[in-house]
Amino acid sequence: METEAIVAIIVGVAVVLLVVLILVAKKSGAPKVQKVCGGCRRVMLPVWTKCLFCGWAPVARLEFILGPMANQTLNLSDEVTTIGSVAGNTVVLADPAVSRKHAGIRKVDGNYELADLGSTNGVYVNGHKVPKKTLDQGDIIRVGNTEAVFKRE
Ligand SMILES: [Zn+2]
Repeated sequence: METEAIVAIIVGVAVVLLVVLILVAKKSGAPKVQKVCGGCRRVMLPVWTKCLFCGWAPVARLEFILGPMANQTLNLSDEVTTIGSVAGNTVVLADPAVSRKHAGIRKVDGNYELADLGSTNGVYVNGHKVPKKTLDQGDIIRVGNTEAVFKRE
C-alpha cells in the first residue's frame, strides 16, 4: 500500500512537471516582435520612437479607408502635413464637410501630433472629437467623410 502511494505521488509530480514544461516551451517559442532600426539595423526598444544610436525614425503613414482618397497611402515625410479642401494643402479633399484648412499633422520629437486647424466640423480620432492629439499606431482619423488609419511600423 505504501509503495503504491509513493508511486502515485511520483506519477502525479511527473505529470505536473510535464505540463509546466510544455507551457514554458510554448511561451518561449512565441514569436517576438522586434523593432529593428532602418538606419543602423540595431535592435530598438519598443518604447523608442526613434533610434537612440543613429537618430533614425520610422516614417509614419496614413492609410485612407473612406472618402475620395480611399485605398491610397500618404507617407508623412514632411515636417507638417495639412488636410483641407483647397489647393495648398498636402491632402486636398473635395468634400463639402471639409474646411479650407481643416487639420494638420506635425512631427514633434519623433511623434506625430494631429491638430484641428479651426475646422467647422471638427477632427475625430477613434470616434472622439479632438482639438489635438499625439497619434498612436492604429488611430483612426476622421475628417469630413474621409477616414484614415495612422500607421508607423
Ligand atoms: Zn539606428
